[in-house]
Amino acid sequence: MARTGLIRDEAYLEHITSDFHPEHPDRLRAIYSALEDKELQEKTELLEAREATVEEIQWIHTESYYQKIESTRDCGHRQLDPDTHVSSKTYRTAKLAAGGLCVLVDAVCSGQIRNGFALVRPPGHHAEAGRGMGFCIYNNVAIAARYAQNRGYAEKVLIVDWDLHHGNGTQHSFESDPSVMYFSSHQFPYYPGTGRPDETGTGTAEGYTVNVPLPGGQGDEDFIRIYQEVLEPIAIQYKPDLVLVSAGFDTYYRDPLGGMGVTEDGFAEITRVLMRIADNCCEGKIVLTLEGGYHLEGLAQSVKRVILALQEPGSPDAAAASPSDTTERIVRHVRDTQKAYWRL
Ligand SMILES: [Zn+2]
Repeated sequence: MARTGLIRDEAYLEHITSDFHPEHPDRLRAIYSALEDKELQEKTELLEAREATVEEIQWIHTESYYQKIESTRDCGHRQLDPDTHVSSKTYRTAKLAAGGLCVLVDAVCSGQIRNGFALVRPPGHHAEAGRGMGFCIYNNVAIAARYAQNRGYAEKVLIVDWDLHHGNGTQHSFESDPSVMYFSSHQFPYYPGTGRPDETGTGTAEGYTVNVPLPGGQGDEDFIRIYQEVLEPIAIQYKPDLVLVSAGFDTYYRDPLGGMGVTEDGFAEITRVLMRIADNCCEGKIVLTLEGGYHLEGLAQSVKRVILALQEPGSPDAAAASPSDTTERIVRHVRDTQKAYWRL
């Protein structure tokens, strides 16, 4: 069986924020060090990242924003906004983050590897067409979705975003385009303020944006139920040709920014649900990219568990979840919201 492909590169440490910024190079140092495991390395394949091209980045971002980031080249530390910092090498690191994900899309879609995980930074899902925000410079997952389509690998792409925060940039990139479905679970109300359940897409893409806002405090069983009961039936009907995942680990129970209760086991189990969707729809083609996650040890161990899950032969049926009353209400509410579009 083809292996799990990984993108990791010391160059991703060269995007410097500040010593007290949560999105710090130590996040990747912790992950890379947790992956120094001989057995895991034998089962994974390291692929070489490349920089995304100007054209690829401008499928999602405006020319003026691209030029703004290029102009920060070798200029030292600056802030695009209070959250979003750039350093001398950010212009290149951000291109490598988007390009690294495209390398995995190539490898998975050509059958070289079974699935993949891009362990990159800066993250991407908050980045809008003309603006970086929320620690994000270029929208890596959005660029990769367009890449898969423009290379002829996929007509329909499903983007699943399990980060604590809503991926406003990703939603806005595709909210009027039914060829990309966006599904997000996130704490709400919370940064960035978007992601209400009635944000369902516009025009012919109505129903192709699915938001599951959560009040906080949700744990493994809640998340597994949401992914099985809300996402899975919709995804199976949509039948994507590729599944991309904005994998954020700030829903981890000890994350300093979050208020959720997901454990390492929970991330592995959500991964199995997504693998089952990919197995059912698109011969298992699934590629993850790192978004948030700020508890270093929890982040590293959770990523490791997700990579181990990606290597499992099949995706067994998950154990029955016993959700809280809150989850019950959320699941019902989102299903009611989406019922007009999907046969739930
Ligand atoms: Zn986040």
